[in-house]
Parts: sequence; C-alpha cells; structure tokens
Amino acid sequence: MRQNSCEYGCTLDGQFFADIDAPDVRDGRIDVHLSVRKSMDTYVLDFHTEGTVTVACDRCLADLELPVDTDNTLYVKLGTDFSEKDDFVTVPEEDGWIDVSWFVYEFVALSLPMKKVHAPGGCDERMIKALNEHICISSPEEVEGWEKDDTEAIPDDGRETDPRWNELKKILNNN
Ligand SMILES: [Zn+2]
Repeated sequence: MRQNSCEYGCTLDGQFFADIDAPDVRDGRIDVHLSVRKSMDTYVLDFHTEGTVTVACDRCLADLELPVDTDNTLYVKLGTDFSEKDDFVTVPEEDGWIDVSWFVYEFVALSLPMKKVHAPGGCDERMIKALNEHICISSPEEVEGWEKDDTEAIPDDGRETDPRWNELKKILNNN
C-alpha cells in the first residue's frame, strides 16, 4: 500500500443506480476501490471500478448484462466555487468534501460499449417481432386511437417514462 494515501472500498448494487437516477443502468453490482493521495495542493483520486451492470439491449430492449472494468482518476482542488472540467474538480473550501457517486456512475457509463446488444442469437426474438410489427403498422396518431379503444388501460404516467416499453408489454400480454 502506498504511503500517504487513504484507501476506500465499497460495493454498489442496483439501489445505487436507482438512487442517483442513472438513466441507462437498470441494475448492477460494482466493486469500487478508491485510493486518495495528496500531491502538492491537489488530491489525486484513483478509482478502480469492476463488476457488471444491466442495461437495455439496443435491439430487443430486454435486459443485457455487461462487464465493467475501468480505471479513472480525478484531480481535486479546494477553491471558492464548485467547478468541474474533464478530470479536474474544484470543491469549495468551506465544504471540504466531494460526492463521488455521480462520477462513479459516469465512469461506468463511459466504459460501456456504444452499441449495447446481445451476442448473436441472444436477443428476445419475440420482442423484436412485436416491436417491428408495431413500428410498421402504427403512426403516432394511430397508436393514440388504438389505446383509447383498448380495454386494458395504461396509466398516463407510465407512457411518459417509456412509451415503447408499455406498447411492447401490451402486445405481449395479448398474445
Ligand atoms: Zn437483445
């Protein structure tokens, strides 16, 4: 272990991603190791983040588990106001602390591949079929009318969070 450094460790689960309103991550289990050392007037925070997260597959929308293994560094200084540029963060001296949860989320999100899809053959083909049929037959106006006629009511707030998802669920339930 390095001299003049502090080591921290924790395990983050799905609750962490729910608490910070992580937009892309549905679930996860991530081990975070943080080493903090001081160099001149700068605190150097070295993060090692490793585990798995569950996201939506870009192709079939079903759960897709992806590995995470990333190393990142933040350089933190004390100053008058909070500011953040790339890896350099200034924390108000009167506060004297930094919440790293959103940074950790960003490290995880940035480490994921741009294209998030199941391995060939791993997608939920039933979902894809339903999604494709729905896209082909429906314009937004038609979807509205179809929903009003449907006996199974869908709450309005549910539609706002992810309309595609509700449409899919309804199609699958009717099969
Ligand atoms: Zn898929």
